[in-house]
Amino acid sequence: MATVKRVLRVAVPSPLYREFDYLPPANVDLASLQPGIRVRVPFGRRTTIGVLVDLLTHSEVEPKKLKHALDVMDSEPVISREILNMVQWASAYYQHPIGEALAAALPILLRQGHAANAVDITHWRLTDAGRRLDLDSLTRAKRQASVLTELRQHPQGLERAALDAPASVLRSLVEKGWIESFQHAPIETAQPDATLPASTPGHTLNPAQQQAVDSVLANLDHYQGFLLEGVTGSGKTEVYLQIIEQVLAHRQQTLLLVPEIGLTPQLVERFQARFQVPLAVLHSGLGSRERLSAWQQARNGSAPIIIGTRSAIFTPLARPGLLIVDEEHDPSLKQQEGFRYSARDLAVWRARRLNVPILLGSATPSLESLHNVEQQRYRRLRLPGRTGAARMPEYAIVDVREQPLEDGLSTALLARIRHHLDADGQVLLFLNRRGFAPTFMCYDCGWIANCRRCDAHLTWHRHDTRLHCHHCGSQRPLDSHCPECNSRDLHPQGQGTERVEQALAEHFPNVEILRIDRDTTRRKGELDDLLERARTGQGRLLLGTQMLAKGHHFPNVTLVGILDADHGLFSTDFRASERMAQLIVQVAGRAGRHDRPGQVVIQTRHPDHPLLQLLVTQGYPAFARAALLERHAARLPPATSLALLRAEATDETLPLRFLEAVRKQIETAGIAGIEAWGPVPAAMERRAGRYRAQLLLQSDRRGNLQQLLSRLVRQLEQDKLARQVRWSVDVDPADTY
Ligand code: ADP
Ligand code: ZN
Ligand code: ZN
Repeated sequence: MATVKRVLRVAVPSPLYREFDYLPPANVDLASLQPGIRVRVPFGRRTTIGVLVDLLTHSEVEPKKLKHALDVMDSEPVISREILNMVQWASAYYQHPIGEALAAALPILLRQGHAANAVDITHWRLTDAGRRLDLDSLTRAKRQASVLTELRQHPQGLERAALDAPASVLRSLVEKGWIESFQHAPIETAQPDATLPASTPGHTLNPAQQQAVDSVLANLDHYQGFLLEGVTGSGKTEVYLQIIEQVLAHRQQTLLLVPEIGLTPQLVERFQARFQVPLAVLHSGLGSRERLSAWQQARNGSAPIIIGTRSAIFTPLARPGLLIVDEEHDPSLKQQEGFRYSARDLAVWRARRLNVPILLGSATPSLESLHNVEQQRYRRLRLPGRTGAARMPEYAIVDVREQPLEDGLSTALLARIRHHLDADGQVLLFLNRRGFAPTFMCYDCGWIANCRRCDAHLTWHRHDTRLHCHHCGSQRPLDSHCPECNSRDLHPQGQGTERVEQALAEHFPNVEILRIDRDTTRRKGELDDLLERARTGQGRLLLGTQMLAKGHHFPNVTLVGILDADHGLFSTDFRASERMAQLIVQVAGRAGRHDRPGQVVIQTRHPDHPLLQLLVTQGYPAFARAALLERHAARLPPATSLALLRAEATDETLPLRFLEAVRKQIETAGIAGIEAWGPVPAAMERRAGRYRAQLLLQSDRRGNLQQLLSRLVRQLEQDKLARQVRWSVDVDPADTY
């Protein structure tokens, strides 16, 4: 019986770059085992849950050393063949252990061993009587009233996990005949639901939008990559909606990925208002039951539209028809720790495998995607103007070397702010630095307060008058004396959002200022609240960090000020100028969306910087062309491939010694066409008490780099020095500092 496949190859969540073989549990029917099911296995001294990836006739492990798996947890795969292939590919490409990669692809409850249908996805909705009911008559039954209010806002119904009420409340509402439960049918058989409010019709498309929609619709039955390029407000989302409408008509699903910050209630509402179908929404704020529920509905096909952030790329789809990545340039689509995958790149890979089209949308496409257009891998679709009467903003550069700055604001900018406020406009100011001042300094000797655990200055925060480290989170009281010269002449130096807010309040005492940064939005609901006040125009002066820069619609903003453009122009990272340009254009996109043109003021010490000049005089496409040429000349991505090896340790010399040894191994490996740069200390060498170093690998040949890396990580597993440091490999790194 040598051909019976009775060895289970299992991916176990562990930092080891391999799978493990087991014998089946006693009394299990071998025919019922298929790749993708979960099995509980002994692992070291504990038991853990792994995913069966293969069944083999024999194992390389000595038979008597093979252990039995303890039990089989699924009758149906929780990881479909399709997802398994994608994760295996990603695990190899991003050099991350398969067991951990597969675990990352599963909802947390499944990782913990809950049944795949552990969450009840029965939905609840109002009955006719419930819809007619006067809620004010329920003043004494607060919990019942709040369930009814919730359901009134969600005519598609809500699942149990989303209703914050005990079963007894639901029961009495059922008894009164006000609510009922139901199940959404899978997409193949779902019928339009006549009890839902009519979906709002789409806009009549302008010619460019129509052309974009038609191009994608002509390719619905096979893979094709599209780059949809259009400034904010040019109608990209409308294009998505009208394509999705057709995908729905084919009874197929759409997976839409958005950056964390782009997944706003308004976006979800817009989808909800447009389509009479349930949405599965996946983001980091979900509870584990809601997450599993959304996963189940995507997998069984009862949710035709799935909207999610990065990790939603691993959502199983019953009937995939279309993939969309919105704001495809956004760095948050790349995971920055652990399993460092790019959700955008995986989406392209997945679309190709599924043989469905993929649409990448952005006002400011990444140079990678523009390169793919040049190579004719993607087709470019352009939305040139803004819809309706809205026009493009005009840029003005303020040279702050010639202008005295008062709390970060030039007189030229202040004058414009006043002008726009007087004309009933709304003003948005962008500064990517929270806190009051980024440094705390002795005016007598020049001492600066530094973090004790990081090579970084401490930020002075006004709300608690303490010094905070933005890198490790540590904080301490302000010093009363200079520790170097004992002087009391200590001052905050430079500007953060708190300080600018204070200055604005002095200049414009009668104007409501909304500051939007991590410090003002810590509590649940605060961000939505601030954004709502910004949108309605109640707050006329908006000041914020990136949280304010992306994705939001502020139709009344007429002036945008970029308080400090220089950070991005002169950073050690080769992507810094691309990021800065994207940010400027995104922030500028907030201005003049409505019927009046917007103005954008950029404060800089380098008004002649060629890329900045190109950006403001000719726009992002011209900037991107020049930046792409620079990348080619410097042999940087997307012209070449990079991988970054990082190492850190509490010992100062270890990371560099380790990477030095790695470099030697790379040289002796003798794989052609690989260049190693470094090792060098990281730009911020010490963080949270650990010293950090890095080694950059570059190659024209992605395949060779892949071959080298996969050999290397397996060698490092056996390496003594490697055990004394924390090391990681970052393939296609988003940052290289
Ligand atoms: P983007 O996603 O590029 O920022 P949106 O699709 O959100 O653009 O469109 C911006 C605004 O213009 C929205 O309020 C949208 O409803 C509206 N809009 C989009 N397309 C049209 C159109 N063809 N006609 C009229 N209004 C439109
Ligand atoms: Zn001093
Ligand atoms: Zn620190």
